[in-house]
Amino acid sequence: AESELIRAQRFESLAMLAGGLSHDLRNLLQPLLLAGDSLQDYQDDPRLARLGKLVRDCGKRGLDMVQSMLSFARGARRAEQVRLGELFSALDLLMQGSVPRSVAMELAIEDPELTFEGNHTELQQCLLNLCLNAIQAMPDGGRLRIETSQAELPVDFFMAGEQPHSGCYLRISVIDSGPGMDNAVLEHLFEPFFTTKETGTGLGLMSCKRIVGSHGGVMRVDSAPGRGTRFDLYIPLEALAADTDTALEEDLDGAAE
Ligand code: ADP
Repeated sequence: AESELIRAQRFESLAMLAGGLSHDLRNLLQPLLLAGDSLQDYQDDPRLARLGKLVRDCGKRGLDMVQSMLSFARGARRAEQVRLGELFSALDLLMQGSVPRSVAMELAIEDPELTFEGNHTELQQCLLNLCLNAIQAMPDGGRLRIETSQAELPVDFFMAGEQPHSGCYLRISVIDSGPGMDNAVLEHLFEPFFTTKETGTGLGLMSCKRIVGSHGGVMRVDSAPGRGTRFDLYIPLEALAADTDTALEEDLDGAAE
């Protein structure tokens, strides 16, 4: 499971890098292409016109490459119907062999039949990251508990200026009884390459945050030295919102008839 994890993390960061890079490159290449374009039409000096064509052609090739890089970054994510029960049985399977006997793992899934729009592989990756972090934080053993429920978004998210969806969220909590984190760690927690581990990548939590974000969700951490760590993921239940919309549309249709 570890090498699987590292591979997926690498892919994640590659997709993110490709996405960011192609965006910046496109902004750089577009004016270059335009400049080449107008130079190409320069009648007075055939040498300048030739240079203009060169600039234009290279710029065009660059833009094409950027375009395929963007499609790659986008293609890394595919929306599908995720069933909660399936998500956690897959996670359970991946975790087999990674949970030492000294760690008691509990799973409390409120509604395994709950289905929502998202990406199974990404979410599995995200949960795996969180669970392995928890296990690594408890070399002398402890408790790892994962629970899910439907919840409202806590008020402090609104106060933090986030722009959450309204409506119902799926909350997934990953709770460990490990040593917890102090402020010095918490401050940098989601930064790429921030790690306190000798062989850490520092990419795990950054990619978790990105995954939750790409689901339109938010993530928060509650941790203090000696008090363990709790991560809460809030993922909007789009399916529910869509149902409400359809119901509303049907009502309106009904009223119109
Ligand atoms: P990595 O696991 O490669 O270090 P992460 O981004 O997943 O990268 O984690 C960054 C750091 O956050 C870890 O090095 C560790 O110090 C801290 N951390 C993450 N999860 C926990 C946890 N459950 N308990 C204590 N510390 C944690």
